[in-house]
Amino acid sequence: MKSIAKIDPIIHSAIKKEINRQKTQLVMIASENYASSAVLEATGSVMTNKYAEGYPGRRYYAGCENFDTIENIAINRANELFSSNFSNVQPHSGTQANMAAYFSLVNVGSKIMSMSLDHGGHLSHGSSVNFSGKLYDFIHYGVDPETEQLDYDEIEKLAKKFTPDLIITGYTAYPREINFKRFKEISDEVESKLLVDMSHISGLIAGNSHSSPIDFADLVTSTTHKTLRGPRGAMALSNNESIIKKFNSGVFPNTQGGPMGHSITAKAVAFYEAIDSKFSDYAKQIVINSRTLAQSMENRGFKLVSNGTDTHMILVDLRTKSMSGMEAERYLKDVGIIVNKNTIPFDPNPPMITSGIRIGTAALTTRGLVAKDMDYIGDLIYKTLTYCDDNKMKSRILNEVKEFSESFPVPGIDT
Ligand SMILES: *Cc1c(COP(=O)(O)O)cnc(C)c1O
Repeated sequence: MKSIAKIDPIIHSAIKKEINRQKTQLVMIASENYASSAVLEATGSVMTNKYAEGYPGRRYYAGCENFDTIENIAINRANELFSSNFSNVQPHSGTQANMAAYFSLVNVGSKIMSMSLDHGGHLSHGSSVNFSGKLYDFIHYGVDPETEQLDYDEIEKLAKKFTPDLIITGYTAYPREINFKRFKEISDEVESKLLVDMSHISGLIAGNSHSSPIDFADLVTSTTHKTLRGPRGAMALSNNESIIKKFNSGVFPNTQGGPMGHSITAKAVAFYEAIDSKFSDYAKQIVINSRTLAQSMENRGFKLVSNGTDTHMILVDLRTKSMSGMEAERYLKDVGIIVNKNTIPFDPNPPMITSGIRIGTAALTTRGLVAKDMDYIGDLIYKTLTYCDDNKMKSRILNEVKEFSESFPVPGIDT
């Protein structure tokens, strides 16, 4: 960062502090990861300088030949990675990919069925404060109160009653495997389209640790920066040419102008890394780590939503601990363990307070942590939340976390 240090010391110092934070804290936000040094290099490359409105071979600007090469490679690698026929690698974010998805699958005002936010759905799946809730007529399904898992018969009943034009599956805070085949059967039965938003789990799918939606969905959207471990951004996949054509115009010119060349370049690099067979070892380890953390927490008296996990995340139900998600998030932050407060199904607390925390293992697995480390972290979390009024204990844990975290490399900083 020689140039930034020279011309802009204030920003340089803030980035240095962030490097230190990412190195000394245990990053366990389920939607975060550490991008590789190659992905970081691509993100910081001159590809950010180029305007390239349009798609490869059909641009509105001259000088796009290298951009075309890179975007075509990114498209082909996305298709190879997820065994799809068509893909779009331009969306700036997951929310924008979903906006383009709705524009390509239904009309404004259409009926869409999705998971409610407080059961694990995403803002862009019909929240009233998001464009989706304003432009479309949403109805929400939730999880079963007993199992806290999807109840496909119940979803089927609701679909028959509501006859949506589109059904969405794929969530932000749901720790269990999704049965895409069953969703396809339900959407066929009510003649609706099916959108799979695999943002959280696309890395697990790429690494064969979660079943793939590509044979069942009309369209698949995903962010690229979560378990997939690419740059911030998003993508879409389909096996249906007419749907991907509509999606392409849904992105440009409908909701975006010029694509971000640096981000598309970094996506290409991330897809290359995910095609490598080592990535399935990574995906497998993420799930092993999250199951081990789940067991470690349960052994120490914590209740988990759905009593476990099949993915990279666990959701801790704190109602038995007489502590809110907000409080737990703060206590853990104070010792350098970074998680987020999260609503749990049928949460009695409002979204700013919540009764749960969401913990993810994708980022720490990138840094090389394995099962025994997760058991240890479970113990640190237990101690932090049990002795939250004991300042001596807290500063001891803070030092322990710092020393432990520093012993694992951070991509782009150490490797
Ligand atoms: C993260 C996420 C998104 C949105 O991604 P942004 O890039 O933050 O807009 C959309 N859908 C789901 C299911 C997500 O988890």
